[in-house]
Amino acid sequence: MRDVLDFSYESRPVRVVFRPGAATTATPGEAAALGLRRLLVVCGSRGAATARAVADSLGPACVGLHDGARMHVPADVAARAVEAARAAGADGCVAVGGGSSIGLGKAIALRTGLPLIAVPSTYSGSEMTPVWGLTEHGAKRTGRDPVVLPRSVVYDPELTVSLPAPLSVTSGINAVAHAVEALYAPDTSPLVALMAEEGVRAMAGALPAVANRPDSLEARGRALYGAWLCGSCLGATSMGLHHALCHVLGGTFSLPHAETHTVVLPYALAYNAPAAPEAAAAVARALSATEPAHALRSLAARLGAPRSLAELGLKETDLAEAAAETAGRAYANPRAVTEEGALAVLRAAYEGGEPEFPGL
Ligand code: NAD
Repeated sequence: MRDVLDFSYESRPVRVVFRPGAATTATPGEAAALGLRRLLVVCGSRGAATARAVADSLGPACVGLHDGARMHVPADVAARAVEAARAAGADGCVAVGGGSSIGLGKAIALRTGLPLIAVPSTYSGSEMTPVWGLTEHGAKRTGRDPVVLPRSVVYDPELTVSLPAPLSVTSGINAVAHAVEALYAPDTSPLVALMAEEGVRAMAGALPAVANRPDSLEARGRALYGAWLCGSCLGATSMGLHHALCHVLGGTFSLPHAETHTVVLPYALAYNAPAAPEAAAAVARALSATEPAHALRSLAARLGAPRSLAELGLKETDLAEAAAETAGRAYANPRAVTEEGALAVLRAAYEGGEPEFPGL
């Protein structure tokens, strides 16, 4: 932390329940505590069986199951979900699944003001943030609104056991990215720094075990604990260069969310580290390493994650457009982001070599 403490921190009213089996054993109690009696459960088509189990556990307090969630919350998908909530006379929503399902629950909350309960099944961290996203005409809009922040989050490591190992790894590093950027955000604070360092430590420690034994409830629990901390950091701070790059690569070039975060993070951190030495040192401590950007790259490589944007399908001819779009966006970052700087980060991530920028 800085020598002279200077920060603000807002504590947000989210209740968190964390235990194996909680999806079906704790969600009914959370709904009752919020006074909710007519809940619409939302999920994606692949998560429908789990969501059905949660819906069944709610008994008569569930008025429907809507399985229309899709990546990046297309506006027409959101409109159909809002309609389903209105038609069912819902007084609240339960989103079961990854960031896409929780995103759909947030879209309903944004439009209707209905309270949301989140039951996450990936490490995306969306459940801990007041950030919503909607995609229309090929462009993704995001915003912050306290109304979309889940009132209650039910973490159940058993739900994540079915998450395939490759997706577990990239989703976990997506979470780590939230913590890394929170460490150098202008609105970071001592509490966020503690959560971020511990979140990186927990996730980086758990991922090799998750990749090795995806059915280990102990490893799954530690990874989900890390995801909670990293998601809390994302919810409390402003995003920087890393998230801006991933936003452009996902929104304009349709690259996959968690994989893109995994590839870009070492390069964004290497670019920012000279301007954010304390943040870099905290990440290094959490990874028990001296070079945090290199350590992140080798962690992802050891776990078999994609290593370059080329592998994810970006074309070399797209780099300049992506750099211009990133440099043109307004976001807080510890190091100034010129078009040349953004292009250097993108080119390095495109090639997938060591994260170093000697020429900048
Ligand atoms: P996702 O929700 O799209 O899930 C990825 C895939 O994994 C899907 O096919 C899903 O069906 C499957 N899946 C999810 N959980 C599973 C499980 N336990 N077992 C088996 N399969 C499972 O992906 P994601 O990475 O969780 O979320 C990405 C989306 O969330 C993006 O749209 C991103 O922008 C958004 N997001 C938003 C925030 C925020 O704060 N608003 C934060 C992070 C991510």
